[in-house]
Amino acid sequence: MAHYHCVNAIALSVLADRDAVIAARMSRVSDLTWATIPYRRPGTPLAHEIDRFADTRTDVLVLYDHGIIVSGETAEEVRQHIARVTEAFSVDERDAGNVNPATLGAMVERTDFHAAEDVQSHKTALSPANVVAATRGSLYPAQSHFPRHRDRRAA
Ligand SMILES: [Zn+2]
Repeated sequence: MAHYHCVNAIALSVLADRDAVIAARMSRVSDLTWATIPYRRPGTPLAHEIDRFADTRTDVLVLYDHGIIVSGETAEEVRQHIARVTEAFSVDERDAGNVNPATLGAMVERTDFHAAEDVQSHKTALSPANVVAATRGSLYPAQSHFPRHRDRRAA
C-alpha cells in the first residue's frame, strides 16, 4: 500500500465536476476497484474514513483534496498500479504561449533580478488563468497545512 500526494489526483479532485471526471479517468483502468473519500483532516478523522474500506481491498482510494492510496498484493503490483493511475489521471498543461528568454532578460536588465533559465517555470505567470489559480489562495485544505502534515506512512 502506498499513500502519496499525487499532483494529478489532487488537480482532478479540486474540480467542481470531480466525481464525473475521476470516474471517467478511472474507467481507463477499469480492472482496478476504487472509491473516493471526502476531505477529512489528516489524522484520526481521515483514518476513520479510510478504515471503512479496510475489508474491501479497494485498489485505489482517491482522497479528495489530499492525495491517493494505492494498494496491491506485492510491491511490484503497487508500483504498477501507481504508474497506471498516475497516467490515467494525467492532465495536459494549459497552453501559456511561448516564453522569450531574451525579452525576459531585457526586462530585468539593470535590476537585482534575473529571469529563470527554465522556460517551463514562467508558464504560471504567462497565463491569466494560471495567475488567478496561483494567487487566489489554497486550492485544497492540506495545501496550507503541509508544514504540520505528518501522514508520511500509509494509513
Ligand atoms: Zn497525506
